[in-house]
Amino acid sequence: MAQIDDLPPLRDVIAAHGLDAKKSLGQNFLLDLNLTSRIARSAGSLDDCTVLEIGPGPGGLTRALLAAGAKKVVAIEKDSRCLPALADIAARYPGRLEVIEGDALQLDPVALTGGDKVRIAANLPYNVGTQLLINWITTPKWPPFWSSLTLMFQKEVGERIVARPASKAYGRLGVLAGWRCNGGILFDISPKAFTPPPKVTSVVVHLTPDPTPLPCDLHALEKITAAAFGQRRKMLRSSLKALSKDAEKLIVDSGLGPTARAEEIDIAGFVNLANVFRTAGAV
Ligand code: SAM
Repeated sequence: MAQIDDLPPLRDVIAAHGLDAKKSLGQNFLLDLNLTSRIARSAGSLDDCTVLEIGPGPGGLTRALLAAGAKKVVAIEKDSRCLPALADIAARYPGRLEVIEGDALQLDPVALTGGDKVRIAANLPYNVGTQLLINWITTPKWPPFWSSLTLMFQKEVGERIVARPASKAYGRLGVLAGWRCNGGILFDISPKAFTPPPKVTSVVVHLTPDPTPLPCDLHALEKITAAAFGQRRKMLRSSLKALSKDAEKLIVDSGLGPTARAEEIDIAGFVNLANVFRTAGAV
């Protein structure tokens, strides 16, 4: 096991604080500090920014982020049982770890990070991970408050985030993430690395904001992709009919063939569709 600090091994921390994993909170802990250090390094240079961590749990990734030199870590944890263990880490790194007890879905990340440059790093609770990602990539202000996302997901979700046309995983998430972000999957993590082990392999995804995404109204793009992928095997002229009775004409106006289907249209194609449907007042 890596010795990255002089705090007790995570197994002892869990035992000392009675942190039996709760399924309802998506708790699958990483106890190998070699691995959490690798994830922390993947986030990029941390000494000039605040790292926002969601769900620090017993603190494996938190310790790695601090040991890697993070100027400051702001960590949001819903499970109050973890707070004493996190307080021990805060005492080891005076002034560098702020723990907030709460639900990350309900808190304003900008207010919590005080306008500093922010990198987000997390072994996300799987039950809220996708929603948090969508919140971060659909912030109205772009470029957003964060300069990178280094996140763990179930492999199937990671593949949807980075999916490209004509693949089974391609859908709304891939279009939204691909429209506004660059990046990809960095590496897999075996279920065996977690306590308790989940059923599936996980991946670490690293995304950075594209400073100049193709011009498009976010709301229009969301409506178009929701309608198009709601019936992904149908031709768009049928799946987009609910948005406009002139759907077929608008599809052709946007440069696509009348028989196009959602799964074969690239991100630029969706942007064109959203712009044409918006100009026509359909979304
Ligand atoms: N970071 C730790 C690690 O890598 O071992 C724990 C990761 S565990 C997969 C997810 C963590 O998120 C748990 O500590 C859980 O209590 C916390 N959590 C679950 N839902 C949350 C929410 N809505 N807001 C903040 N934390 C949450």
